[in-house]
This record gives sequence, structure tokens and C-alpha cells, in this order.
Amino acid sequence: MILGCHVQMKAPLYVEGSVKEALSYGANALMLYTGAPQNTKRNPIEKLHVKEAHELMKENNIPLSHLIVHAPYIINPANSVKPEVAELAKEFLESELKRTEEIGASFLVLHPGSYTTTDMETGISTIIERLNSVEYYPENVIICLETMAGKGSEVGYRFEQIEEIMSGVNHPENFGVCLDTCHINDAGYDVSDFDGVLDEFDRIIGLKHLHVIHLNDSKNERGQRKDRHANLGMGTIGFEALHAVAANERCAEIPKILETPYINKKPPYGIEIEMLRTNHYDAERLNTL
Ligand code: FE
Ligand code: FE
Ligand code: ZN
Repeated sequence: MILGCHVQMKAPLYVEGSVKEALSYGANALMLYTGAPQNTKRNPIEKLHVKEAHELMKENNIPLSHLIVHAPYIINPANSVKPEVAELAKEFLESELKRTEEIGASFLVLHPGSYTTTDMETGISTIIERLNSVEYYPENVIICLETMAGKGSEVGYRFEQIEEIMSGVNHPENFGVCLDTCHINDAGYDVSDFDGVLDEFDRIIGLKHLHVIHLNDSKNERGQRKDRHANLGMGTIGFEALHAVAANERCAEIPKILETPYINKKPPYGIEIEMLRTNHYDAERLNTL
């Protein structure tokens, strides 16, 4: 199983520290933000210990395709109301694509954004316009549009909306999808029938475009359009269904990334990854973390 989690990237070791953190959880994949997800302040690439990170990954048989970058959620490419937000999205996306390439990661996860006071169709055309205004698309980086929960005016909570964006971009070879189990549950899909979900995904978008899975339980009932992540087995999806996602052979080559909340201020990832690998759930171990 290719299992990883969201890890920190901070001084002094930066990306090397991220890999170390992932290894400490028994992970063979990882996802990081290149700085605080709430802002666009970033360190120069020379400071990030990229070479050391790659060496450490190689020593531990983790290919670069299991290293994933998540764009900060402050950028909103669907906003057509405030031009300055739109301009920031374009500029930041360009620099983030470059940074992702320099870090050596293949996938940059991006939230499509929220249409705010307009409507879904305006939101989708705004995203397409924004993505097409980006002047530099690295050859080896794929932007993975994340499936969203549909909270507020979020774009991308139906596979059809993601497909519409993907068929409107000028560089389709640079686009793919990140499927978040909590988000699709909240959007109304039945994660406990994951083969059914994959069939629908395949029919509408095409399974070959699926590159990353975010494996999270959800605090909300299916279809609530809320987006609140829960620890594995502590939400409405349940451990059995999430294990079935991790074990599904049709996406065996796709990294599954945990974005579950800390418990008692401690990361649950080591335990959650072990429980997935052994298919043995023990709520007590998480609760007493
Ligand atoms: Fe996300
Ligand atoms: Fe996610
Ligand atoms: Zn979420």
C-alpha cells in the first residue's frame, strides 16, 4: 500500500525534515505545503534541503512520484469578483508550479476555489481562464484538482464540474485529479461502494487522470456539504470502507494521503498507517494517544 500523510515543512531541515517525519510514521508517501497554507510567503529553494530529501527518499525506496505538494488554500482561482485575488492566484500558481518542479514533486494539489457571489458556471469559466493565463507549465508537474465537499460556493464537488475545468484548459497534459474521501462523502458520493465511485469517476473524468487520494473519515453524514475531517473509524465513512479504498487494486499505484486531525495535539498518522497496513482497527490506541 502506498500510504502517507500531510507532514510539516519547517526550519531547519525543510523538505528533508518532511521526509524524516513521514518515515517516522512508517509512510512511503508524503504531502507538504511549501509554506503556511494560509499565506503565500515562501522560502527560497536553496534553503529547502531538496538534495538531502531526495537521497533520504532513495535510501528508503520512496520514488519521487510519492512526494506531493499542496497549494495553499488561500488562492482562489474561481474568484471573479475581486481582481486582486484573481491576480494573486495566477502569480502564486506560477511560482508554486516552479517550486513544485524544483522540489522534484510530480503532483501539485489545488482546490478549484469558490465562486463567492457569482454562480457555478461563472466560477468554472473563471478557473479555466485563470489556469490558462499561467505562462509556465513545467513538463513534469501535474496539477491535481481536488474534489471538494461543496461547502458554501465551492466549485468541484461533482465529477462533472472537475471534468468541465479539465476539458477547458489549454494544457490538459498538466492536469489530473486528487480525490478526497471526506469531501466526496460530504458531497454525496457513497465511499462504502468505492468501486461504484471509481466507475462513475471513470465514466465522467477517466480513471487514468486520478493521481492522488486523500484518505480521511468525515464528521458529517453523506451529502451534508460541510468538509470536516475525522480520524479513521471515528466518522461516518468508517474504517472498513476506508481500508477498502486503500486496498482497492484499481488504484494500487496511487498514493493515499491522510489529512486526519491530531489527537491530544499528537499526530495520529503512525497508528493510522499501521492499522491500514494490518487491517486491524483499534480505536483505543487512537483515543489514548
Ligand atoms: Fe486539500
Ligand atoms: Fe484533501
Ligand atoms: Zn477537507
